Amino acid sequence: MDEYDLIAVGGGSGSQVATAAAERGLETAVIERGPLGGACITRGCVPSKALIHRADIADSVRHAEAFGVGAALEGVDYGEMTAAIHDTVYEKADRQEASLEDAENVTLYRGEGRFADERTLEVDLNDGGDVEVRGDSVVLGVGGRPMIPPIDGLEDVDFLTSDDALFLDEQPDSLVVVGGGYIGAELGYFFAALGTDVSLVGRSERLVPREDDAVSEVVTESLERYCDVYTGYEAAKVAENDTGVVVTAEPNEGGDGDDGESSTGDGVELEADDLLLATGRRPNTDTLNLEATGVETDDGEYVVVDDRLETTCDGVWALGDIVGEQPFKHAADYEAKTVSANLLEDGDQAVDYGAMPHAIFTEPQVASVGRTEGELEDADREYESATVPFDAAPLGMIMDADDGFVKVLAAPDGEILGCHIVGPQASTLIQEVVTAMEGGGTVDDVAEPVHVHPALSEVVYTAFDELSSSEFSTAPDWRDVSDE
Ligand SMILES: Cc1cc2nc3c(=O)[nH]c(=O)nc-3n(C[C@H](O)[C@H](O)[C@H](O)COP(=O)(O)OP(=O)(O)OC[C@H]3O[C@@H](n4cnc5c(N)ncnc54)[C@H](O)[C@@H]3O)c2cc1C
Repeated sequence: MDEYDLIAVGGGSGSQVATAAAERGLETAVIERGPLGGACITRGCVPSKALIHRADIADSVRHAEAFGVGAALEGVDYGEMTAAIHDTVYEKADRQEASLEDAENVTLYRGEGRFADERTLEVDLNDGGDVEVRGDSVVLGVGGRPMIPPIDGLEDVDFLTSDDALFLDEQPDSLVVVGGGYIGAELGYFFAALGTDVSLVGRSERLVPREDDAVSEVVTESLERYCDVYTGYEAAKVAENDTGVVVTAEPNEGGDGDDGESSTGDGVELEADDLLLATGRRPNTDTLNLEATGVETDDGEYVVVDDRLETTCDGVWALGDIVGEQPFKHAADYEAKTVSANLLEDGDQAVDYGAMPHAIFTEPQVASVGRTEGELEDADREYESATVPFDAAPLGMIMDADDGFVKVLAAPDGEILGCHIVGPQASTLIQEVVTAMEGGGTVDDVAEPVHVHPALSEVVYTAFDELSSSEFSTAPDWRDVSDE
């Protein structure tokens, strides 16, 4: 049996703990059954954003007229586009694999790992055979996969998930997307902006229902301009017809949507070439034979960890999507850093998700950090809020970003409790708020530093300025012009 100081199971963020340990001279192993880099590189963040970037370009061409620029979208070479993205992301995964293989003190096992006991893993090698490896410490980062809901007739119908929808050779003429969360909303926007006739079905009364209500309202209204949106509906039945698929969606009368609201009315039948299920993800913990260990899961799914990310089994650590706290790549990387510090330096770092941001790359973009207004209300927390539309700042007005806004939620003493941005470049604009929150900052920490004029960050500045303690304001406000 091969013995190591540390074994990482999963070649996504978990492998970064192995490489950090290897750089310190520890003997490490990484077990990965698929492309290196995990979901993010080949099935998630990067290819989806590469597609959305192309959708944004097509969308800008369509809207160029509004700015006095004559332009027409002459066509989309769909197969070439997806092939180019496929090549780029798989080249990155191959390079990551080569660099792991070249690294000192790291052994890469290409196959699926499962526990034989608390420190021993059997690896079913991709090219046949198996091997047993043993580690003094084990880091679990096996990620997740699309969840397939129980829909009547699904077993007889071909369907796509985000795993296969990113690299289609041909663009579907029409598509039903089931799922109103961020993956359904992003992919619905992508296909629709490139010209696919998209029906988007979501169980809650609004798309992206986990966002602040004001944000999910804007996203829903915006996506209604691209897709036929059926919020408050559940896909109840699917069947094939001569040309593709028919989805019967029924009102979600049970009210078990994320926002607890329910719909009434008639069911709808939606016909399309293809069906894409974007109905959430589940962790891959069931691949690990955790029964052979003392690693506990929460209802058989997410791994239970303490605030240092150690599992209920001494010396076995977990991070990323299997922990379930924040299913984002930057969160998994942050957790990998925390595990590295705790495991390699005998540290006592507790994870803190208070300033953990996330973004949604629809049109308009969404970015958020901290608590939503609904969460503060539910917690009976005293707060004040300011919401400033993008067109209060001159660049927002120039870009015609009139449905976007920055919303700030703060405690009476100025502590930032949450910030929610919807509008162009939201994913970048949120960063100064994250930095302020990370340092335990107040609204003044965002409002006081000078902001570049006339950059979009002036929307953030103006929103925080509304709650700041400063007696003098020089924040721009072009609403007197843009509202006309
Ligand atoms: C369509 C889509 C878009 C996304 N967009 C974003 C985004 O814009 N921003 C963002 O922050 N996040 C995004 N995410 C989420 C992000 O991809 C994940 O949060 C992140 O990849 C989680 O990292 P991880 O290391 O936990 O798991 P992963 O990256 O999934 O890595 C886990 C690895 O473990 C391997 N594995 C599983 N079981 C075993 C086993 N038993 N033995 C060996 N190997 C195993 C898998 O093959 C995989 O490579 C997106 C996800 C999807 C699906």
